[in-house]
Amino acid sequence: MSNQTNKTSGISVQAEHIFPIIKKWLYSEKEIFLRELVSNACDAVTKLRRLSSLGEYDGEGEKYAVTVSFSATAKTITITDNGIGMTAEEVDKYICSMALSGALDFIEKYEGSKNDQAGIIGHFGLGFYSAFMVADTVDVHTRSYTGAPAVDWTCTEAGQYEMGEGQKEEHGTEVILHLNQDNEEYLSEFKLREILERYCTFMPTEIYLVDEDKEEEEREGEGTPAPINDPHPLWQKNASDCTEAEYTAFYQKVFSDFREPLFSLHLNADYPLNFKGILYFPKIREGYESPEGIIKLYYNQVFVADNIKEVIPEYLLMLRGVLDCPELPLNVSRSYLQNNVYVAKVSAYIAKKVADKLVSLCNVERERFETLYPDLKTFISYACICDRKFYDRVSSALLFKNDAGQMISIDDYLKDKDDKTIYYATDEQQQSSYIRMFQEKGISVLLFDHILDTRLAESIERYREEDGIKFLRIDASTDAIKGEGVAEADTAKQIFEGFSSESLRLTVEAQPLADAQTPAILTISEDSRRMQDMMRMYAPDSPEMPLEATLVLNTNNDLILKLNDGTFGELAPRVAQQIFSLALLSSKKLNATEMQTLLQNSYALLGEL
Ligand code: ADP
Repeated sequence: MSNQTNKTSGISVQAEHIFPIIKKWLYSEKEIFLRELVSNACDAVTKLRRLSSLGEYDGEGEKYAVTVSFSATAKTITITDNGIGMTAEEVDKYICSMALSGALDFIEKYEGSKNDQAGIIGHFGLGFYSAFMVADTVDVHTRSYTGAPAVDWTCTEAGQYEMGEGQKEEHGTEVILHLNQDNEEYLSEFKLREILERYCTFMPTEIYLVDEDKEEEEREGEGTPAPINDPHPLWQKNASDCTEAEYTAFYQKVFSDFREPLFSLHLNADYPLNFKGILYFPKIREGYESPEGIIKLYYNQVFVADNIKEVIPEYLLMLRGVLDCPELPLNVSRSYLQNNVYVAKVSAYIAKKVADKLVSLCNVERERFETLYPDLKTFISYACICDRKFYDRVSSALLFKNDAGQMISIDDYLKDKDDKTIYYATDEQQQSSYIRMFQEKGISVLLFDHILDTRLAESIERYREEDGIKFLRIDASTDAIKGEGVAEADTAKQIFEGFSSESLRLTVEAQPLADAQTPAILTISEDSRRMQDMMRMYAPDSPEMPLEATLVLNTNNDLILKLNDGTFGELAPRVAQQIFSLALLSSKKLNATEMQTLLQNSYALLGEL
């Protein structure tokens, strides 16, 4: 072994500023010291593996591992790896100089601005120095895989380090943290496990946690130790090699959710986006659960954060999943992500893939898609309202139920029609008499059963204005249900002219309707109704405007003809009142007065029998 002289050095004046700053600035996320050190250890193993695969190192039979051990009595945490290790020159270059020059840049640039804290640490190779957030002294024992002499390095929180030849025989690195008094809470298996499980679950080398204070026998009694992590997360595999069961198990483990997700989507974006991931549509339980999902962001299998909203469009936030983006820095800050072109591209890519997945499910597994649809509906509708591009991609998989109980798209609906009017009902029971009239004419009706449906319809009208698409509620006009015959019943009209309803501005018309059974129906103008819905939403406290309504007397109906030719004599107003009340009843919820009028009039008419 070479006879290296011990080197003692006081890191330059500026460097003494570093430690207090590391401590102060990173305080809120102190526990990342473990992530930084364990990921350095994993990197060291990955590097050696690579050298081995390149034939530059004979790693035959090696079992690579990273061990985090702790001793509550010695007050130390030790991170050990059997990776590439460092020579004395490398310790000097990477641990002493590089990190510190990075740190100086860091201080110069950001001193005084507290906003970007952790965001900067990673950029300047300060990872290793995060150890000083919890330790007052750090020892490094390392030996390079090249066989160069081992090195011991020790540094105090004042920035004084000492370097010399070490005793370590195996290649790899051991970093020992001598915890300061304020941070003894980390000397607990529970605490360390929690941190490791949060940040290191998918790091690429097996990680073990060891309590050094336990006797060897005691540890053996606990059986073969299991690694904390899964070094081969599912997202790293090819989608074609993954089974549904694996996707489900992965979801359940990562999100601690015992339910099955509706379906999953494996992402693998090539250059230049270069990221992998798996997204899940969770089953949303309405009521007692926030519909917000969780996207966990990783950097080469190292956990970064799980509240990153920027990498996914806002309307997809109820998705859950993992994304591994080696293009992003390990320590990302919110402001960095917000204005980042790369992030915007990732977000657009994800939206496109989600839309494509929905369309392919709809085309290829139609039956399954329809069963899932009630759970997907809110999400798809909302996404279409928010994003025109998403709608354009997904429109064939955007389904509505029709009155025959089928699930159809808007284009399916329009296929056999000459015009571009789409008729819909918002309340299958209340509007059943209208639905029946449409059925008799052979016109299909979409049943809106979701709160977003009417807003969605308005969006589609806007998106497809050039196609002339128009949505009309079935009670908005009689155009579709007109019949043959004369449109005149002046005498009858006069009898009805005096009727009114508080909530309606009423006009009376006579028209021949295709369905002879119904004496009169109410139509409510689409525009007036939409205006009222909008007012209800945006100005719920303002007084309601009456709706524009037309009472259409059916000149193909016997009762109307009889009213018109005087057959009913003195009973005419009573009969007319009854017809009016019934028209109201099949159009809307009656208010108390209207209900009383209907009942009293019914009893009086029965009395005339
Ligand atoms: P970064 O990991 O971002 O480069 P660090 O300050 O964490 O910054 O580490 C600086 C350098 O020190 C690393 O790039 C690596 O070359 C070296 N290093 C740190 N830890 C280890 C280790 N356990 N084994 C080998 N080299 C290491």
